[in-house]
Amino acid sequence: MKQYQELSPSPRTIMTPGPVEVDPRVLRALSYPILGQFDPEFTALMNDTMEMLRLLFRTDNQWAFPVDGTSRSGIEAVLTSLIEPGEKALVPIYGRFGHLLYEIAERCGAEVIAVEKEWGGVFDPEEVIAVIRREKPALVLIVHGETSTGRMQPLQEIGKVCRELGVLFVVDAVATIGGVPVETDAWHIDAVIGGTQKCLSVPSGMAPITYNDIAERKITARKKVERGLRTPGGEDWDKAARPAIQSNYFDISQLQDYWGPARLNHHTEMTSMLYGLREGLRLVLAEGLDERFARHRLHEAALVAGIEAMGLPLYGDPACKLPVVTCVAIPEGMDGDLVRSMLLHQFGIEIASSFGVLKGRIWRIGTMGYSCNQKNVLHLLGAFEAVLIRQGASLKAGAGVQAALDVYENKSRRE
Ligand SMILES: *Cc1c(COP(=O)(O)O)cnc(C)c1O
Repeated sequence: MKQYQELSPSPRTIMTPGPVEVDPRVLRALSYPILGQFDPEFTALMNDTMEMLRLLFRTDNQWAFPVDGTSRSGIEAVLTSLIEPGEKALVPIYGRFGHLLYEIAERCGAEVIAVEKEWGGVFDPEEVIAVIRREKPALVLIVHGETSTGRMQPLQEIGKVCRELGVLFVVDAVATIGGVPVETDAWHIDAVIGGTQKCLSVPSGMAPITYNDIAERKITARKKVERGLRTPGGEDWDKAARPAIQSNYFDISQLQDYWGPARLNHHTEMTSMLYGLREGLRLVLAEGLDERFARHRLHEAALVAGIEAMGLPLYGDPACKLPVVTCVAIPEGMDGDLVRSMLLHQFGIEIASSFGVLKGRIWRIGTMGYSCNQKNVLHLLGAFEAVLIRQGASLKAGAGVQAALDVYENKSRRE
């Protein structure tokens, strides 16, 4: 019989927009003994997690819990539970993940209206607001940080108008949560989806979500009741209720009965992942959200200074740059994938390529979570320069690392 080798993944420096490196304390949490999902010790950990998620999302919402699955499972859960077939949903698209919102909304039976922005920019909030006033959608679905283009959409003004007009405002904050401020309540967001494997630095496999009581009312009105059951008033549920949610796994009305005091069985909670998420959230809050955002800004500044000093052009409108993803235009005639492959195999560093129209045109460098540190930034800049020279680029030797060091030294001098 074939002998399989013992598992031994190589240590990597991961500078992509996810998954990123994970704090050893989170990795350790993943290996703790299993608790039963109704064990009071475990349900206490679930409650801690909900509390910490409220702080992370900056919300007083009752509901903040993870959906089990990758980030898009959180998106599917929120959209499937909130969108009733035939409703109008407006999706402003400025990158690949906007298209994902569009696609999922369409599968939910929405009449989807898209407005698109050329990749590399974001919407002026007034443009979106004008479409909202004209189209009067039931929901607006938008991405906060587009990892595909490295852009970040301002949300506050759009949220304010949505609330005034009674439009549900749903935000994909998968890439930004834990790295950039996401102000759920202050920006009037009705439902937010976060991710674990990006700035939270927890492995992929859970999707923290939060939603307010406006969203909750809509979701619970669609609660599916077993066939033949009657409402307390005696009428047929199927006639009394709104259209049922078309998924069992992603039915938020059931998930909240599982996470809330009712503790009704739904699926088996992902015990080990919950340990990991709880430990990851604990570390985020111990660092301090504002301190954490400042750390992401510092290493972004050092990376950008380094890239610019090397003479490489950045991609996209700098006014709306996503702080945790830096997109670099691949120089004319250079094979972007060859550069990435050399970085990985010679230096153990991973950066990302891109999708769609940007494929072969840009590299994407993430500075997220545990990966977002001085050692990684300096290591990457040094290796990047070496590989580019190897591929025939003429660069001023050492300029990238020196420029990044300037940023770090200026910061220490100011302190
Ligand atoms: C990464 C990402 C997703 C998808 O996350 P998965 O965990 O791969 O499902 C969705 N939206 C945005 C903005 C992302 O960056």
